[in-house]
Amino acid sequence: MRKRIYGNEYGFQTRAVHTGNDVDGETGAIKRPITMANSYELPYDPSDLNWSSADKNLYTRNGGSNQQYLQEKLASLEGGEDCVVLASGVAALSGLFFALLKSGDHVIFSSITYIAVYRLLNELFNNKFNVETTIADTSDLNAVRAAIKPNTKLIHIETPGNPTLTISDIRAIAEIAHENGAFLSVDNTFASPYNQRPIELGADFCIESLTKYINGHGDAVGGAIIGRKELLDIIRAQSQVNLGGVISPFNAWLIMRGAVTLPLRMRQHNENALKAAKYLKTVKGVSFVAYPGLEEHKGHSIAASQMSPGFGGVLSFGLNAEHDTYNRFVSHLKVITSAVSLGHDESLIVFIGENDERQYLYPKEFHNGFFRFSVGIEDIEDIIEDLRQAFEKENLL
Ligand SMILES: *Cc1c(COP(=O)(O)O)cnc(C)c1O
Repeated sequence: MRKRIYGNEYGFQTRAVHTGNDVDGETGAIKRPITMANSYELPYDPSDLNWSSADKNLYTRNGGSNQQYLQEKLASLEGGEDCVVLASGVAALSGLFFALLKSGDHVIFSSITYIAVYRLLNELFNNKFNVETTIADTSDLNAVRAAIKPNTKLIHIETPGNPTLTISDIRAIAEIAHENGAFLSVDNTFASPYNQRPIELGADFCIESLTKYINGHGDAVGGAIIGRKELLDIIRAQSQVNLGGVISPFNAWLIMRGAVTLPLRMRQHNENALKAAKYLKTVKGVSFVAYPGLEEHKGHSIAASQMSPGFGGVLSFGLNAEHDTYNRFVSHLKVITSAVSLGHDESLIVFIGENDERQYLYPKEFHNGFFRFSVGIEDIEDIIEDLRQAFEKENLL
């Protein structure tokens, strides 16, 4: 009889397939069902229940079966004790910040982060709730040390960072955080747990936008926080139940299904992105290529020490050209789609223009505008040919 597969006794791929996917006790089905119910039957005397508790399945905002299955799988893949899944990556980020921070606390966050982190911390939490914030170049450990204050409660980093692929040293920053009584959270969305597991490197919290590689099919939105149970219990009680960003059982089920093939997809993403990066390096009209898998990338050796077996599927590159050339280049593409998001099966490209409000935080080569390119799992020959014919049309070869 198939046993419950969990923890490190089994390999990553076996856990991606099986964990959370036990035989259904009720029907004997070898896949767990989607439970599209928002409420669960109450006990004989419900009057003693805590309506705000996340301990029992009561109401789907307090907890539900499909959420739980997915949480089991993600905790296992990230090497963490526990996991909370929420409606989006941003719900996970805001849920973490809301539960952890109070007025008077100080937060340090990477200069390169998902835009919502910048909005949440630098505009909302500091203006509304008097949370102090410092934006630091966390690829520089001295900058991290210099930003520490007596009231620093949290360091939040993203590595590789969206959209410049800047690398921060997770082990070293975890040490700095812990020496100073602060927590470290790492947004692991670009790497995925197949390539990088921040909890194993010393982080207290790992954040994933499940919308990206973990679901991998571009058809559902979700987010997760992985960490120690005692801390996640607080997040679950405060942020899941009372902020209310709960995931739909259907989306949890879709993401569960997508996550089964995460290792297979990531191998192809890793391989295709490295080949695409090497191809782009040969193109005369390309001004720079940022991919941590390239040996010349500034963060390559740190990336190699904390990412394995690969460096993910996202890269950025610039053109030796003006604004309009970027738009025309995209209009020539036949396989690669112009859309935000990343980590889908299909290749996606987005033009980030020179007027982007956060350009001042990006390295100099990004200041004239650039592409963020999420390399999909199509045949690499087709991806490269698609790029080549678009370069040719713009006389960039
Ligand atoms: C997309 C993304 C998020 C936000 O996730 P959503 O699921 O879109 O809310 C957070 N961090 C990173 C690095 C992302 O790429």
